[in-house]
Amino acid sequence: MKTTRRDFLISSASVVSAGVVSALAVQRQAMAAQHVDENSPLAKQLGYKHDATLVDAKAEPKYKPGEHCATCQLYQGKPGEPWGPCPIFQGQDVSDKGWCSAYTPKA
Ligand code: SF4
Repeated sequence: MKTTRRDFLISSASVVSAGVVSALAVQRQAMAAQHVDENSPLAKQLGYKHDATLVDAKAEPKYKPGEHCATCQLYQGKPGEPWGPCPIFQGQDVSDKGWCSAYTPKA
């Protein structure tokens, strides 16, 4: 069986495409796995907790029971997904059950 130059180019392009798709999938998975560190300076400054029920109401008087990231205007996670992006913590995901003092209820 003789391989033409055209066949070679087509199969090479397929291999490269598959590699790029795999690399993007791995990168996306790695990015999605980055959760906000509650002990980071910004998280501490904003009183962020992964679990809003653990917010210290005395230290965070703005907090009202029932508030959580999934009901915040800034939350960009998809409904039903436990973690999602928030522009306050760029490049990291917050918990849909989390809370911070920048909480802004959805309209
Ligand atoms: Fe959660 Fe809203 Fe604070 Fe972002 S701004 S961490 S979505 S409460």
